[in-house]
Amino acid sequence: MSKKFKGQRCPYCSEREAVTGDHIFAREFFLPSARANLPQAPTCDKCNNEKSKLEHYLTTVLPFGGRHADASVNLASMVPKRLGKNVRLHRRLIAGQQIVSAPDKEGKFEETIAIPFEGEKLEQLFSMIVRGLVWHHWRVYLADGYAVQTHTVTTHGLHLCENLLFRPNARDRVQGNHGNGTFIYEGAQAIDDPGITVWKFAVYGGLASYEDLPAPESLGSHLISMTGPLAAFARVNREA
Ligand SMILES: [Zn+2]
Repeated sequence: MSKKFKGQRCPYCSEREAVTGDHIFAREFFLPSARANLPQAPTCDKCNNEKSKLEHYLTTVLPFGGRHADASVNLASMVPKRLGKNVRLHRRLIAGQQIVSAPDKEGKFEETIAIPFEGEKLEQLFSMIVRGLVWHHWRVYLADGYAVQTHTVTTHGLHLCENLLFRPNARDRVQGNHGNGTFIYEGAQAIDDPGITVWKFAVYGGLASYEDLPAPESLGSHLISMTGPLAAFARVNREA
């Protein structure tokens, strides 16, 4: 890891001094042949540990639900080794797996195996990823009193959010595509406050989630993140 990040401020906590650099999207999400040019950010020890734990869980579990072709190769070639190192997680996945009838891309129902999934860990990791990207693209640190909120949305929810959140004017818009579509994102920054940003992510081509069956349009799960003053989120939450 490059020394250039050492001594810079860590964007994940906006507080402590970085000890090393961090791949904002962990290398393990990608096949070894698709890891070129991944964005990096400085990180302190504490945030690095916290993020690594989330990444360990998610690089093991996410390929099971991914629809991108690389997710199946990752599942076959790299996940068994990760599960071998984590017996407890392996047992938990086996104990919780069930056979569900789910629609494929054409809407035809097929039996498939679903595993239990801690969605809040995905949302936690993406809230960290967003802090990394805000720094990577704009060198902005989220100040005290600013927060990130991340939600998993269905395809239908994504269209709704796109209309509401991405339509207004923005100071800047950015996008990224890493590992030939393994991770795709778009971000926009507000005109009047560099700390107000909105993001959407597709991971492994959208993750299959079976909570909202049988509506086939609910199949593709995406993530939406927003950053902004904590007070704004508090108000939204109270009204919801
Ligand atoms: Zn930190």
